[in-house]
Amino acid sequence: MSRTDYIVIIGCGRLGSNLANRLSGTGYQLVLVDKNEYSFDMLTSDFSGFKVVGDAIELDVLRQTRLEKATSLFATTTYDNVNLMVAQIAKTIFHVPKVIARVYDPARESIYKELGVETISPTKLSSEAFIKMLNTPKTKFPSKEEE
Ligand code: AMP
Repeated sequence: MSRTDYIVIIGCGRLGSNLANRLSGTGYQLVLVDKNEYSFDMLTSDFSGFKVVGDAIELDVLRQTRLEKATSLFATTTYDNVNLMVAQIAKTIFHVPKVIARVYDPARESIYKELGVETISPTKLSSEAFIKMLNTPKTKFPSKEEE
């Protein structure tokens, strides 16, 4: 990704705000959308992007983000259906080159792939992390006698 990328992030909850706070001030142009204005409270005080309050499945709301200029869109809401719909609109109407969506239900990932949408599945990532930790020796804490 080039540093002049224009990224639209849908959802400013725990995931969207975390991404925005990490990318803010690193050269990316950022626009965040959330239907709940209080969600923006999770942004750090030095967040340098734009905020749009509204339901991301409404075309007028997406137009306010100037999505036609975006090089990437991250769909991070809690709802697979919302993420799928927004990703589809971003691809087919606004021709956003890189669209990445959060998908809880791994069974739905194939639908996204057919649309050319990349996916991140917290369910699959967590499952992999659980199994990895199961196979990793537990950190040994010193007992009272050893301290
Ligand atoms: P979290 O699960 O903590 O990452 O939060 C998800 C965020 O997505 C919340 O801040 C919600 O308000 C937001 N959200 C859910 N549905 C929509 C929607 N249709 N349009 C915009 N934001 C949404």
